[in-house]
Amino acid sequence: MKYFDSHIHITEPSLEGIEALLKHMDDQKNMVGGVLILNTMEEVEVVSMNLNKIPDNLVIVPYYNMPDNYPERIKQSKWVKIHSRISRLTVSDIPGVISLLKSKGDSIAGFIVDSFPWGTGIEYNISLPLTIKLATEFPDKSVLVAHGGGYESWQFRAHAGGLKNVFFDFAISTKYYEDTEYMKPLAKYLKHSPERVVFGTDWPFGEAKQHIKEYQKMADIALMKQEDLERIMLENSRKLWNLK
Ligand SMILES: [Zn+2]
Repeated sequence: MKYFDSHIHITEPSLEGIEALLKHMDDQKNMVGGVLILNTMEEVEVVSMNLNKIPDNLVIVPYYNMPDNYPERIKQSKWVKIHSRISRLTVSDIPGVISLLKSKGDSIAGFIVDSFPWGTGIEYNISLPLTIKLATEFPDKSVLVAHGGGYESWQFRAHAGGLKNVFFDFAISTKYYEDTEYMKPLAKYLKHSPERVVFGTDWPFGEAKQHIKEYQKMADIALMKQEDLERIMLENSRKLWNLK
C-alpha cells in the first residue's frame, strides 16, 4: 500500500537525526512523503541549518510558539504543533495559547495537537479541551488529533467527533492499543467520516508495516475496500496539507 506518513520525526536533534530519517524514507519504497513534526526549539534549529537536506515531499510542522525569525521553509505549511506535555501546558494555559495563535492570523492554517495521554504528568493532559477550543475558535482552520487520543479515543469521538474541522491519525495508538477497545473509534471514523482520517506512524516510535496492518484491519471492520483505504488516505493528506 502506498502511503503518505502524516506523522514522523527526526531521531534526535542533530544532523545524524536528519540522516536517519532520510535513510528511513529511502528504505520505505511505498512512502510518497510525510509530515515532519518538530516538537522543540532544538529540532527547529537543526532542521533550519540543514534545509538543503530536507526533501520536497516533506511538509514541516514546527512547534506553535517558536519565534518568527526562522526560514520560510519551516513556516511554509502554515501548520503548527502543540504538544502540551513537552510544553508543560495545563488547562489554565489554554486561553493564553488561543490568544497567541489568534495574533498570528492567517499565517496559520492548521494545528496538530498531541493527543496521547501518557506518564505521570497528568496535569498536562489537556488535549481534548484544547482540541475543542481550537476547532471552535478557529472554524476555518483544521485541527489534527495526533494519535487519535490514545486511551481517550472514545472521549474524542464523543466530544470532538461532531466537529467537522477535526481530523485524526492513529499513529502509535495502533501499537500500544492494538486489539483493544480503544481502536474501535477509528474504524467508526473510517466508516462514517472517512474524509477525516489520515495515515501516520510516529516514526521512529512506530513502524509503517505494523500501522498499515492495523489500518487495514480497521478498514475491514468499516467495510472499506483495501484499495479505497489507500486512495482515501492519500487524498485526505493531499487536501489537508495542500499537496500536489
Ligand atoms: Zn510524534
